[in-house]
Amino acid sequence: MTRQDLDWENIGFAYHKTNFRYVANFKHGIWEDGGLTSDETVVLNESAGVLQYCQSVFEGLKAYRTRDGKIVTFRPDLNAERMETSAIGLEMPPFPRNRFLEAIDQVVKANSDWVPPFGSGATLYIRPYLFATSPVMGIKPAETYQFRVICTPVGPYFKGGARPLTLCVSDYDRAAPHGTGHLKAGLNYAMSLHAYVSAHAAGYDENLFLDPATRTYVEETGGANFLFVTKEQEIVTPQSGSILPSITRRSMLHVAEHILGLKVSERPVKLTELEDFAECGLCGTAAVISPVGRIVDHGREIRFPSGMERMGLVTQKLYDLLTGMQLGLVESPAGWIRQIC
Ligand SMILES: *Cc1c(COP(=O)(O)O)cnc(C)c1O
Repeated sequence: MTRQDLDWENIGFAYHKTNFRYVANFKHGIWEDGGLTSDETVVLNESAGVLQYCQSVFEGLKAYRTRDGKIVTFRPDLNAERMETSAIGLEMPPFPRNRFLEAIDQVVKANSDWVPPFGSGATLYIRPYLFATSPVMGIKPAETYQFRVICTPVGPYFKGGARPLTLCVSDYDRAAPHGTGHLKAGLNYAMSLHAYVSAHAAGYDENLFLDPATRTYVEETGGANFLFVTKEQEIVTPQSGSILPSITRRSMLHVAEHILGLKVSERPVKLTELEDFAECGLCGTAAVISPVGRIVDHGREIRFPSGMERMGLVTQKLYDLLTGMQLGLVESPAGWIRQIC
């Protein structure tokens, strides 16, 4: 398929093969020079560390086409930093941060035809990842690794307006206390898939996972962080050692505090205080912020005053500001936008 055949509005969120990807290998204790390739296959030993013990971490970010035709990424330095933390947490050699940024620039530039036009709502999703390639059998970290950056165009997250989601409080946990919940590792997703499929089958959009130690505090969903707005327009976001630190959520907090002048706090949020909030949203790169209208905790149902028709007022303001920055319509804090071409 070529770019011309794509219907930007309806491509959804799926893998489309694009022309180039970046590959670098770690061997004999060093990261070798990397480069672009058109080969979309990976050939691995049957006992590669990633296959046996899931030694793999990843990142996700987007390239946006701005109103004046530039192609930019949003805070990729934070992705570089987070991938370093994730790699160290899984005993993998981190890919140097400056090379991480250059690799992304190269992939986006080489696939610039695949960056959707301004105004289409579609974007180029970028997936950097790092995985263990050498064979292991005994339990230990692998000796060789591959870092790869692929990209694929993705459609607008909200087609025909944002529809508030319904979540259910899950009986499963997505991460263990003092485990890997704060790392962006594929293994966290593998173990949340059953919970995700079960929630879908029961008619819910997503799971609300509780803190795994006491099951009384709100953590996050399978792939997005919570942001709540109180009736006094204060922004509250859950604090916990097993939440993945979302770059979107951190950016929202900054914008709320420094641009909208709102009070913000990051603190443990009890499941029992949900009904006190006026608005609820899920933060992540894919949707920026998805409004949540309803949360079902077994027999108990929480309906946020913002309702099931549209985003809450504050949520909408944050969404407009952040997407405005990404599309070059709103000035952003220094260093947030990296222009690629
Ligand atoms: C990637 C991810 C997020 C969202 O992070 P962003 O940096 O905003 O995209 C939230 N939760 C989990 C578990 C994630 O893996």
